[in-house]
Amino acid sequence: MLSLEDKFLQRLQELVMRGDDFSRVAEFYQQVAPLQVEAKSRLELKRPPTSSAIKKKLEADKAQVTFEGLAIDWLVVRDLFSRMLHLLADYKIVDDAQLGKLKELAPDPALLKRAARKWYKQPVVECSNSVEVAIAIALRLTFLPCLVKHSEAIMSMFDQERWRRSSCPICGGKADFAFLNKENGARWLVCWRCDTQWLFQRLVCPYCGNDDQKSLAYFTDDNNLYRLYVCDVCHSYLKCIDLRQTEEEILFPLERILTVGQDSQIQEKGYKPGWIASTPDR
Ligand SMILES: [Zn+2]
Ligand SMILES: [Zn+2]
Repeated sequence: MLSLEDKFLQRLQELVMRGDDFSRVAEFYQQVAPLQVEAKSRLELKRPPTSSAIKKKLEADKAQVTFEGLAIDWLVVRDLFSRMLHLLADYKIVDDAQLGKLKELAPDPALLKRAARKWYKQPVVECSNSVEVAIAIALRLTFLPCLVKHSEAIMSMFDQERWRRSSCPICGGKADFAFLNKENGARWLVCWRCDTQWLFQRLVCPYCGNDDQKSLAYFTDDNNLYRLYVCDVCHSYLKCIDLRQTEEEILFPLERILTVGQDSQIQEKGYKPGWIASTPDR
């Protein structure tokens, strides 16, 4: 049976072969994915989580892993970060100004560490030159192997029914994607930072907590496969896929790529991606 990573690579190859708008992005991820797989295989959790420690944090409504609690091999991280910068530049995913800022972080372990800590603890904030967003993209690509490793170890022992919060149970991040599951259409959120999936109410905005149905809505595509949840209180949107409408296996990292058209359409209507905050936390 193919592993998730193999399936991901196989679907990327199909996208590259299609030769359309997504091919270039798919090619980028073809370069990225093996580097992330390799980094993940090099990482060891020195203190594997125990079910009692997980339960304790869950009961205290706390995210499972603080930045300080992450098992980080900084040699692996620095190496991966530099490789990601090359790829981001090669594929023109960041512009020259953004790349300049990112390059300042690469050779300096203290600066990189500080940026990573900030990225982990604060929401990504919209700003005009979007340097912060570029930093978030580069750090996400770099830290994903490490975060997924933690998430896999913890979520196998995690009681989903008892969380139901709007933030990620692993890293505390917001969701940038959602899905309705096949079994009963329950809504699961997907963390923008670490890809962890968690159960959340369907009729509540995960960004501001609004549950007034008059100011919540969703748009669907012609096949009823995709939904765009919008909230007229915080003017955020959340992309969602309804797994009851498809027999195909859905790979979420790819869905983010395949649905970029939806982002521009909904942003034209005045909604913003909910995982990017307009103001930093106080
Ligand atoms: Zn997370
Ligand atoms: Zn809202």
